[in-house]
Amino acid sequence: MLDSTQAAPDSIIDGTVLAAKVTADVATHVAELKARGIRPGLTVVLVGDDAASAVYVGSKERTCIELGMFGETIRRPSSITQDELLAIVDQLNDDPKIHGILVQMPLPKQINPDAIVRRIRPDKDVDGFHPVNVGKLLIGEKDGFAPCTPAGVLYMLQASGVTTAGADCVIVGRSNIVGKPMASLMVQPGVDATVTVAHSKTRDLASHTRRADILIVAAGRAQMITADMVKPGAVVIDVGMNRIPDSSKKSGTRLVGDVAFDEVRGVASLITPVPGGVGKMTIAMLMSNTVRAAAQQTQ
Ligand code: NAP
Repeated sequence: MLDSTQAAPDSIIDGTVLAAKVTADVATHVAELKARGIRPGLTVVLVGDDAASAVYVGSKERTCIELGMFGETIRRPSSITQDELLAIVDQLNDDPKIHGILVQMPLPKQINPDAIVRRIRPDKDVDGFHPVNVGKLLIGEKDGFAPCTPAGVLYMLQASGVTTAGADCVIVGRSNIVGKPMASLMVQPGVDATVTVAHSKTRDLASHTRRADILIVAAGRAQMITADMVKPGAVVIDVGMNRIPDSSKKSGTRLVGDVAFDEVRGVASLITPVPGGVGKMTIAMLMSNTVRAAAQQTQ
């Protein structure tokens, strides 16, 4: 399903290159806003000391600052109460310097994540998880925010010249973070894919994946999609990030996707690698959402 005039020369969709395009675009918008005296600002709230979350949050703050935006992280211990965390959200909701608010998940078990997400002002919810933004995405309203990972996947498809209109798109996974918003994006008029969403109760998964012109996998199961499950010439987007044992690595593990990359790349027309694929897009799309939030709040 490639438009031959736009086809990438290689069969790999390079997340690093595409993320750099998004951030260059963001930098232009930041400069335009600065000329109007506005500095887009993002606050990330990090609760507890989960090592992976600390790494993600660090790179979000760093990217903001590199792009000339205001970026800060509020760190709180895992003993924080729900009321204390809600008070932080209220304060950020009222702060005109802050245009985007993100509370890093997972949260400790005394805190209901839905209560926190619902307290964030929808126009500052740059993660796109507030029910108002979920609804706007579904009905196709453009002033809401789509979750960053699926938004990044759609950007990758479009920037790679993949024809989505009329394509059979199969999404493996139905989480609120990836699978469901991905389906909402792919089915919108203008994108126009015919969408199937598979999950752990799907019967005969391969019969679905083998029909896909565009196969998007977000199941969190290392290398579950093998070459025999993919239609020749399909575009394969691997959202999965899984650590598997690898004694040749110093850490004893390596990062792999949900797709058996080495065998599937021989069947697919385009494929995203892990690492270096979808993961690179997520922070770039967060920056893009934040700069749009700043523009919308200061119109
Ligand atoms: P999740 O909440 O665990 O959801 C996984 C989904 O996959 C569920 O809907 C589950 O079905 C389905 N599933 C699991 N095993 C399956 C199987 N054998 N066949 C068919 N469907 C199956 O995970 P998530 O948050 O969506 O994340 C998915 C993966 O993407 C993870 O590896 C995660 O690390 C990665 N991820 C990457 C990024 C990024 O920036 N690259 C961002 C977010 C997530 P049920 O609903 O029936 O349980």
